[in-house]
Amino acid sequence: MAFFESHDPRFDRFVLGNAPVKRLATGFDWVEGPVWFGDAGCLLFSDIPNDTIHRWSPETGVSTYRRPSHNANGHTRDRQGRLISCEHRTRRVTRTEWDGTITVLADSYEGRPLNSPNDVIVASDGTVFFSDPHYGIMMDYEGERAEEENARVVYRLDPATGALEQVVTDMACPNGLCLSPDESLMYVADTGRMWSDDPQHIRVYDMLDGRPANGRDFAKPDVGIADGIRCDEDGLLWSSAGDGVHCFDTDGTLLGKILVPETVSNLCFGGRRKHVLYMTGTTSIYSVALARRGVQWP
Ligand code: MG
Repeated sequence: MAFFESHDPRFDRFVLGNAPVKRLATGFDWVEGPVWFGDAGCLLFSDIPNDTIHRWSPETGVSTYRRPSHNANGHTRDRQGRLISCEHRTRRVTRTEWDGTITVLADSYEGRPLNSPNDVIVASDGTVFFSDPHYGIMMDYEGERAEEENARVVYRLDPATGALEQVVTDMACPNGLCLSPDESLMYVADTGRMWSDDPQHIRVYDMLDGRPANGRDFAKPDVGIADGIRCDEDGLLWSSAGDGVHCFDTDGTLLGKILVPETVSNLCFGGRRKHVLYMTGTTSIYSVALARRGVQWP
């Protein structure tokens, strides 16, 4: 079975002939939000419909990290190593403190509840960016049905002051997001409204004064859609897709694919040197070792 599909000779140097795409665990419904904890040697990820955040490690396999998770979706870590989470049902972004208590970072904008925060990143200065599409309030599967009371945007959150600002306002449904290694660019995936003709693609923005600007189209998987995205150490973009993970050059050229037998929703680099890609794929989690390293934080 082929694990990789090369579209450019450069990609042949990114993947290893003796490193398989492995299914690490299965039996979930819709997994999302992988985040690596090198200090604990484990991966956390969400099973959104089953209201659980799971923990996986090579030594212990899968265990329950948090249930109920309030239909948590995307996660990341801040520069202090704390877990930052998007919760659909409670329509908020939270931080898990070192003692386990949970701090709400954002749950409303101008007095109205957020839609259903989906994915989140933290810049090196501590600024939090998160997307707020409507998927978690469209129906009761991944959250709880409710009316939209705010636009579907990417927010910039200053955790010191709690100030919340709408910074990406030109998308139908912003979803996965990431920064380039030097934080000069932000990539955002627009997954569009369900059952619509909205564009489903990745756009790129210049980071000016700590805010994304000058948005333009970047790339679009040729199978399925881009949801979660991550940059590697050189700024190449690795995107979830319908047939696995696609690797794009900085100009948007498809370099190659990691083939996964289920639709991949999200991914993160982890392992000893951030050289292992962990992928959440519908009912299972997968990994593959690469001859690349991810952005070193988180
Ligand atoms: Mg997502």
